[in-house]
Amino acid sequence: MDIDPQYWVRVLLLNDVKNCTLHISSAFSIDNVDPNLQTQVQLAGLDRLENPINIRLIDNEITISGRTFPNKEIIISPDEPYVFNLNGRNYRGKLKLITSPDGSSFDAMNIVPIESYLAGVAGAEMPDYWEPEAVKAQVIAARTYCLYTKKRFGSNRNWDVGKTAAHQVYLGVSAESAAIWNAVNQTTGMVLTCKQNDGTEDIFPAYYSSTCGGHTENSKNVFGESFEPLTGVPCSYCKDVAKPKFFFWPMAQFDKPEVTNKLFQRYEKLKQLDDITDISVAGESNCGDFSRLTMIELLGSNGNKEFLRAEDFRLAIDSTGRKIKSACFQLVDLDDSWAFLSGRGWGHGVGMCQCGAEGMAREGKTARQILSHYYPGSKILTIKY
Ligand SMILES: [Zn+2]
Repeated sequence: MDIDPQYWVRVLLLNDVKNCTLHISSAFSIDNVDPNLQTQVQLAGLDRLENPINIRLIDNEITISGRTFPNKEIIISPDEPYVFNLNGRNYRGKLKLITSPDGSSFDAMNIVPIESYLAGVAGAEMPDYWEPEAVKAQVIAARTYCLYTKKRFGSNRNWDVGKTAAHQVYLGVSAESAAIWNAVNQTTGMVLTCKQNDGTEDIFPAYYSSTCGGHTENSKNVFGESFEPLTGVPCSYCKDVAKPKFFFWPMAQFDKPEVTNKLFQRYEKLKQLDDITDISVAGESNCGDFSRLTMIELLGSNGNKEFLRAEDFRLAIDSTGRKIKSACFQLVDLDDSWAFLSGRGWGHGVGMCQCGAEGMAREGKTARQILSHYYPGSKILTIKY
């Protein structure tokens, strides 16, 4: 718990809520951050809780156990073993609550040392019984991604990363195990770096996804960012690791009005098409024996055209990504519906292929070899906390 504040991570646990349930099995304090001194001022010290308590907004103020706190921000800090339970899930570190500007809701953030955060990510992102070298590669990629995202976006918002696959899945203490902690401890401080546009060596967004399907994708086609290690490489390793139904996924089918509605809901600019009369492929990456779509053209009933990245297109139609698992598919017009055929791979395909990492590790490759395959041109640097 005594690492430099820049290596604590703020994870958004609850967004825009009016109440939550808290349980802490140790004594804890409720603090306020003095905006002038940037130090914590204790508002209350409480004994361990016998039962979960409700935190709710009453008259736009946070109320904990019947006591109201008029502060916009409060920090709840458990004593050893530094664990709290929010809505039934255990997390390490501290809990920060921030009320919205109009006081109608609040956000809940977990303020957690990065290594504890990574244990809660690695065990959620990868099975802990996978090869230790694959899990170590996962931890190093996750550490790099987190620190990059924190640096790039954290200063403009109250949190650094979310807890879902939109960033990295974080499940707190329940994701931890001895194998996961071994991988975290054996890679402490290790991050990936590459040459930046200005010539310096620094961290980059080390994306990763479940199953690339045989070839990873250039980040420029998916996220719009260019980094040398994120240019796309062949992967012969995931096919034997991924479940067959995830490597080759079954046809998905969506009614045309549903597709149009979902696209219009997600992207305001598409409404100028009036109605979508045709959808076609405007860009694709050649992956050898298959293609990954990169750009989709939408034709409107009024003759206007709009373009969407294929990854954005599929997630607008199927936000969970459970049916249209990747942008590797053939789009077929079935008159009343759109069919997504010949699908392969699961996820955006940029950076490390998680199943491929496991495949490489089973062949005896080290975490370092796995990372240099999926992030070509990257280096490993160890940060001293
Ligand atoms: Zn792969």
